[in-house]
Amino acid sequence: MENYVVRKLNVTYIERNCKSILHKIDNPRLPFNWGANPYRGCLHSCIYCFARYTHSYLELDPEHEFETMIIVKKNAAKILRKELANPKWKNELVNLGSVCDPYHPIERKYKITREMLLEFQRYKTPLTVATKSNLVTQDKDILAEMSQDSHVDVVISISSINDQIRKKVEPRASSTQKRLEAISELRASGINVGVLLMPIIPFLNDSENEIEELFKAVSETGANYVIPGILYLTGTTKNRFFEFIEKHCPDLVEKYKLFYKRRSPPKNYREKINLLFRQYRGKYNLDKFSPGQWKSKKDTQSVLDYYVEKK
Ligand code: SF4
Repeated sequence: MENYVVRKLNVTYIERNCKSILHKIDNPRLPFNWGANPYRGCLHSCIYCFARYTHSYLELDPEHEFETMIIVKKNAAKILRKELANPKWKNELVNLGSVCDPYHPIERKYKITREMLLEFQRYKTPLTVATKSNLVTQDKDILAEMSQDSHVDVVISISSINDQIRKKVEPRASSTQKRLEAISELRASGINVGVLLMPIIPFLNDSENEIEELFKAVSETGANYVIPGILYLTGTTKNRFFEFIEKHCPDLVEKYKLFYKRRSPPKNYREKINLLFRQYRGKYNLDKFSPGQWKSKKDTQSVLDYYVEKK
């Protein structure tokens, strides 16, 4: 197997051939059973990234190398075509970007996500594409065509209307403004766009005004739906997050220790924030979950309930 390394600034890109690309996702709370990732690791460097732990499977440091040692699956589209052509494949919903962002900046060079989209289009695979990057608009031509004869949702996540906070917690992702513009651009091309308004991070981006401004800004883009959520922390991600808080917000350390004795903040806090979510989803007409076309094992409403009520 070919395996060589390209270094750019302080990031190492390891080009590899993969043996398989579609992977099973056994989470009954998610609407998809399958995921696919053109890369492993992600330059966006979100401090709360839940996918960090996956780097330990590659014998890399999940806390610090997730954003600096990135695997590039050079042959991803070729393998994907074989898997989608397999008669055993049942054409189920696939989430593109389950443990990496398919549009982190190196996609400009490699265009592996674009090649994969062409294969999904060829086989009319229902798809969700998850990203925090406005780079997704470079593929709006394919996504718009796909929307004509299969189901595709682009799902853009935004955590804060305040770009100073965004820079701290998602240092290398697109600015909030660029993501909002990307949503408008995709919607204008007839593409379904859902927005993950998450994570709401206690003491950082959780003021009532800020949450309402976020809902308002998203409603002005024409997004089809939102799924809001509160920060939860486990394992490697919790360690990395606390490292960040100790360095950048030392006065909040004790509060966070109290708030995150478990994976989620206390119930009364969650209830307060979930109430705001319900209020603003109604007020800004963002309370329709999915267009209802997802071919999923789950009632999509139950997924919404999970995000809104349980996190
Ligand atoms: S964009 Fe997604 S995959 Fe990339 S670091 Fe952020 S949360 Fe993780």
